[in-house]
Amino acid sequence: MSKSADVELAHLKTAIKYLIGLLEDGTLIARYDKATRVEIGIALNHLLHKVEDLPINVPERLVQAAAVRSIIEASEGYYAAAQMEMQENLELHMRQAEAGASIHGHTLSEWERVSGSDLEYQATCKMCGGFVYVSHNSTYNLLLDMCERIHIAEEPQ
Ligand SMILES: [Zn+2]
Repeated sequence: MSKSADVELAHLKTAIKYLIGLLEDGTLIARYDKATRVEIGIALNHLLHKVEDLPINVPERLVQAAAVRSIIEASEGYYAAAQMEMQENLELHMRQAEAGASIHGHTLSEWERVSGSDLEYQATCKMCGGFVYVSHNSTYNLLLDMCERIHIAEEPQ
């Protein structure tokens, strides 16, 4: 006697819900990275609800699309957190560069965004023209140890 589709679906849902619980809990799979476990759990949860909402006779590629959308939605939290961390690191590097420049007598301009990147900035010393570049994961300090004003002979009036 073959099992009905309804019974198989009910079993599958129960097993997936239990799997989500295991992923969140992590005791059976402690060696899995926690953020990844949680994200897969969220993706499976989205998938259960999306499949429930699919109309009858939907094409297979739209069923597959539900899996892709579940993964994308589950990753949004990760990207938001990663973006915030990069922004915080960028601002930390700016404050460190400003403090370093000030100690060595430089007067930095406002930070200018490097074109083509949201997370790279540079500032120039108004006195000596040296500059410093910062990103979320690096700092390049091209300021001299002591600020030396470049004396430009002024044209007589
Ligand atoms: Zn300077």
